[in-house]
Amino acid sequence: MPDSSHTLDGPIEPGAGLREAGAGLLETAWRPVVSVVVPVFNEASGLHEFHRRLRSVMDAGPDRWEVVYVDDGSSDASCALLQSLRLTDPRVAIVALSRNFGKEIAPTAGLDHAKGEAVVLIDADLQDPPEEIPRLIAAWRDGFDMVHARRLARSGESWAKRASASLFYRLMQHTGKVRLPRDTGDFRLMSRRVVDAVLSLREQHRFMKGLFAWVGFPTTTIDYDRAARHAGHSKWNYWTLWNLAIEAITSFTVLPLKIATYLGMAVALFAAVFGAQLVVRTLLFGNPVAGYPSLMAVVLFLGGVQLITLGVIGEYLGRVFNETKGRPLYLVERFLPSQSAAR
Ligand code: UDP
Ligand code: MG
Repeated sequence: MPDSSHTLDGPIEPGAGLREAGAGLLETAWRPVVSVVVPVFNEASGLHEFHRRLRSVMDAGPDRWEVVYVDDGSSDASCALLQSLRLTDPRVAIVALSRNFGKEIAPTAGLDHAKGEAVVLIDADLQDPPEEIPRLIAAWRDGFDMVHARRLARSGESWAKRASASLFYRLMQHTGKVRLPRDTGDFRLMSRRVVDAVLSLREQHRFMKGLFAWVGFPTTTIDYDRAARHAGHSKWNYWTLWNLAIEAITSFTVLPLKIATYLGMAVALFAAVFGAQLVVRTLLFGNPVAGYPSLMAVVLFLGGVQLITLGVIGEYLGRVFNETKGRPLYLVERFLPSQSAAR
C-alpha cells in the first residue's frame, strides 16, 4: 500500500486515516435512493411552495431522498432562499453555477451532483406536479430505466405555442434519427445507468430531450395534466423557442445540409435547361433584345440560394467550432451537498 508507507515515512497527521474512513462510511450511509434535480432560475416567488409540496410527497414514500437545486445564476432571492431551505431541511443540496448557463445545461449540472439510484428531473415552477413523482418511482421499480411524464393538457399555453410545439415534434420525428416522445418535457425519472449514459455525452450544444431519447434503455410513459405556472413567468419566448428548434435539428440531423445540396442541384439543373432553351431559341429566331430582366432574376435567385446554403453550412460549422474548444459545460460557484444521514 503506497499510501500507508508514505504515512509511516512522513510526518503523521493525527486522525487523518480515521477521518478518511469516516468520510467513506458517511458517503455510503448518505446515499439517497431517489435524487430530485430541480433547475432554478429566478423562481423565488414559488420556491417555498414547491419545496413544501415536494417534501410532503417524498416524505410519504418509503425511500431515502435528496433534492438537488441548481441555482442557474439567479439574480433574485432564489439563492438565499435555497440556502435557508437547506438550513431547515438536510436533504437539500445546492449547486450554484457561476452564471446563467441556460435551461439545457442546468439539469446536466444537477445530474452531475445527484447521488441517487434513481434521479427525477422536475421544473421548479410547479408546472410539473411533484405529486406525480411516486408514480414515476413505481414505474422504475417495475423495471423501467426511463420514465417519461407525458402532459395531457397544457393549460395556460396559447394556441400558437401548442401548434408550433406540435409542428416541431412532427418535424423532429421525420428528420431526426432519434424518436422524440411527443409532448414530454424534461419531467422524467432516470435510473442510475441512464443518468451515467446521459452524462457521458458532454457535447456543448445540448438538446436534452434529444440526448435522453438517444441513450435508449427500457422506457415507459405516464400521463399527467400539465398545470399553468404557479408563479413567475416562463423564460421562453418565440425567439428562444426558434433557437431551441434549430439546436435540436442541427444536433440530431444533417438533413438541412442535404436539402441544401438538392436545392443547389435543382437550381443548377433548371439553369442548364433554361440556358439550352436560350441557345436553341437564339439559333432559331435570333436575339432581338438582350434579356436583362431574366438575367437579373436568375442572378438574384442563384445568389439567394447560395446565401441560404452557406448559412446552413455555417450553422453546422459554428457548432463544430464550439465543440472543438472543449470548454467545460458549466462552472460551479459553490456546491453544498445534502446531509441525508442527519435524519
Ligand atoms: N431554468 C433554468 N435556467 C434558465 C431558464 C430556466 O434553470 O436559463 C429553469 C426554470 O427555473 C424552471 C425550468 O428551468 O425550473 C423551466 O423553465 P421555464 O418554466 O422557463 O420553461 P418552460 O416550462 O416554459 O419550458
Ligand atoms: Mg415552466
